[in-house]
Amino acid sequence: MYSNSVNKLINQFEKLPGIGHKSAVRLAFYILESPESVSKEMASSIIEAKQKIRFCSKCFNLTENDPCEICSNTKRDESTICVVENVKDVIAMEKTHEYKGFYHVLHGSISPMNNITAGDIKIKELLERLKDDAIKEIILATNPTIEGEATAMYISRLIKPLGIRVTRIAHGIPVGGDLEYTDEITLIKAMEGRREI
Ligand SMILES: [Zn+2]
Repeated sequence: MYSNSVNKLINQFEKLPGIGHKSAVRLAFYILESPESVSKEMASSIIEAKQKIRFCSKCFNLTENDPCEICSNTKRDESTICVVENVKDVIAMEKTHEYKGFYHVLHGSISPMNNITAGDIKIKELLERLKDDAIKEIILATNPTIEGEATAMYISRLIKPLGIRVTRIAHGIPVGGDLEYTDEITLIKAMEGRREI
């Protein structure tokens, strides 16, 4: 239906997460109908980001400078590491301005269904960091999914014998939520995670 180069462009957009065929066609035509400067700037931004951005060698967050801004910030609390699944989780946590420790990005979670084992994510690298005596607590902030829970359990079993405190973020009813409409598992987790007030 379209010429070769248009098809090629549509195919590229279709590879992006959350972009179906219809959206890919819409994006391709947006580019084709825009001035040449738009596509030039877009293409060079993609290349520049790919060239400049790398993984931090300590926490595996994305960064232009290694170690990243968080790892090289001496004002942060060096006694805690918050373990998350993805880079986007670091950003979410940083937005709260509450947590002052360091991070460790696993880049996924253990998922036997998808053939992802402990060796495929950055667990080995986390254990390596624990050789530093300054670390007193590991906060497991993986997602409250089956995979996230399994990953948290797996890591806690490895770390507990080292005498480092291992904590798991609480799960429960969202702020503004309603008990009546909360699913059973969330309610059970909320009961388990209750604390003195
Ligand atoms: Zn870092």
